[in-house]
Amino acid sequence: DKVLVRRALLSVSDKTGLVDAARKLADLGVELVSTGGTRKAIADAGLPVKDISELTGFPEMMDGRVKTLHPIVHGGLLGVRDAPEHKAAMEAHGIGAIDLVYVNLYPFEATVAAGGDYETCVENIDIGGPAMIRSAAKNHGYVAICTEPSDMAEVLGELADGGATTLALRKSLAARAYARTAAYDAAISGWFAAQLGDEAPRRKAFAGELVQTMRYGENPHQAAAFYRFPNPRVGVATARQLQGKELSYNNINDTDAAFELIAEFDPANGPACAIIKHANPCGVATGASLREAYERALACDPTSAFGGIVALNSKLDAATAEKVLEIFTEVVIAPDADEDAVALFRKKKNVRLLTTGGLPDPTAASDTFRSVAGGFLVQGRDTARLTSADLKVVTKRAPTEAEVRDMLFAFTIAKHVKSNAIVYAREGQTLGVGAGQMNRKDSARIAALRAADFGLDLKGSACASEAFFPFPDGLIQAADAGCTAVIQPGGSIGDDKVIAAADERGLAMVFTGVRVFRH
Ligand code: 5GP
Repeated sequence: DKVLVRRALLSVSDKTGLVDAARKLADLGVELVSTGGTRKAIADAGLPVKDISELTGFPEMMDGRVKTLHPIVHGGLLGVRDAPEHKAAMEAHGIGAIDLVYVNLYPFEATVAAGGDYETCVENIDIGGPAMIRSAAKNHGYVAICTEPSDMAEVLGELADGGATTLALRKSLAARAYARTAAYDAAISGWFAAQLGDEAPRRKAFAGELVQTMRYGENPHQAAAFYRFPNPRVGVATARQLQGKELSYNNINDTDAAFELIAEFDPANGPACAIIKHANPCGVATGASLREAYERALACDPTSAFGGIVALNSKLDAATAEKVLEIFTEVVIAPDADEDAVALFRKKKNVRLLTTGGLPDPTAASDTFRSVAGGFLVQGRDTARLTSADLKVVTKRAPTEAEVRDMLFAFTIAKHVKSNAIVYAREGQTLGVGAGQMNRKDSARIAALRAADFGLDLKGSACASEAFFPFPDGLIQAADAGCTAVIQPGGSIGDDKVIAAADERGLAMVFTGVRVFRH
């Protein structure tokens, strides 16, 4: 799979490092071919280089709009070297193979950033460059495509040992090359959209497949659409909607939160249910049956559950369906649904029922996105998963086995609650959730208030905090409410005081060393 590099085509707008790379190639005996400005820069350095016009028999024309758009060039890039027909065509038309391409594009993005006028921006849309990049990348079986100095450095590294490139590097370079042309075209489309004052064309260029445009977004005056990444794994993006009204923006957002949470519960360990409202869980529980899991989840906060999203970790059955349909629910999502359950749902036409065929792997690495004014933030998904071995006991009293189970359950839920998050739980059931408060003490208090509202006794329950308690007040709040075990990341300069407060009250407390913020 190694390809000897005999001829290289260099055509770069940004000529940084060009002469250096050209010299190394020339030293290796590689024949250099270039476009006007690039050729001049190389020749001025005293290196042998051929003008592309010599190959094509055409001059550069139309202000450089047409330089390399010629079968001699693209045949040399695209020809499959060991396909008899391609070989014959190359011989018949005098097309020589090009084994290495180094192209960087007209500086469209920089021209826009510098406030270039309309004509200047349009003239800086490179046509031949992206065409060469795409041709070379497509034919990565034989051609190495570089679009950055660092790509060239890698290729030169390989060439130093025998003058050939490996298939592995050529494939990697091809992937990078298409990312470059995609970003380039996205920039052009974004600029046009801005010129027109119309965002719609730009949305089509998001790096995803448009699944659905929505009537509106989070609010009726916001436009919205739903995109799916290429090759998505199991999840909301691949769910099948069996019935119900079209999914809204908020539905999809909340359903995703519900489904990602329930995916933490391996069905092999028994049924589990999460009820989500505005992307926060208002009840999560396991149960001997799926119906029981739903009932226990509902008991945590039946008021908030109204108009919520129900996510199940196992196949929806009729007994559960019957119970779920007793109150108004926006969306029900499960890996699967049996026929009797589907038949029951048919009577409530508006309820959206989604099946996914499985659960997403909560430990699978992927990215999450958040927009900021003028850009967006990307981060790896929170794949933190804890076992009892990860817990460090910091109090005099060690937790009982049951408390450890409850703490791990509560912490798993807390990871899916907006910060500041406090979760009270016992025996696989949330008893109180405090979400999205600006201080931890209030979250602890609200979680306890909810439990009291719905007649749930917090005595002997576990309390999870998704980030450390900076002061003892939040922990005291939890202890006063009846919690006997506390799980939190630890790591605050106030840890000593918090531990002392826990010891005073006979609590068992563990540190996870892992924070699971969700802002
Ligand atoms: P040079 O400075 O060598 O004259 O031009 C290099 C630039 O021309 C590179 O950015 C390359 O992408 C671009 N280029 C090469 N061939 C063509 C072509 O046929 N049409 C256009 N518009 N640009 C080209």
